[in-house]
Amino acid sequence: MDCLFCKIVEGKIPASKIYEDDQVIAFNDINPQAPVHFLVIPKRHIACISDLTTDDRALVGHMIFIAQQVAAEQGCDNGFRTVFNCNQDGGQTVYHIHLHVLGKRQMTWPPG
Ligand code: 5GP
Repeated sequence: MDCLFCKIVEGKIPASKIYEDDQVIAFNDINPQAPVHFLVIPKRHIACISDLTTDDRALVGHMIFIAQQVAAEQGCDNGFRTVFNCNQDGGQTVYHIHLHVLGKRQMTWPPG
């Protein structure tokens, strides 16, 4: 399977990794949209949030838990934003689910 984020998980493509455990990794986004911008991804390939099954509930909960833990480590004391882009209308470009975590600037709403 030709998946960019699977290659990062396997270490075939370098990434600035800031967290890893048996289920997920977190690494800095290559094109950051905020002073802190990292991605939390599962090691197991899941293409899109709309592909999740009931078996994935604990994994996705773990991704969110790690997001807040790493955000705290990155100094996002005033808050942060989490985003899952899903499929075409959601603006997804990499089809391996990833939770964006953005911080250290004031976010606005609505998003683009
Ligand atoms: P999406 O638009 O799918 O929600 O977000 C994909 C994200 O992956 C983008 O923010 C993009 O900058 C990031 N990205 C794409 N390719 C790479 C890469 O090779 N390394 C890293 N670290 N981030 C990447």
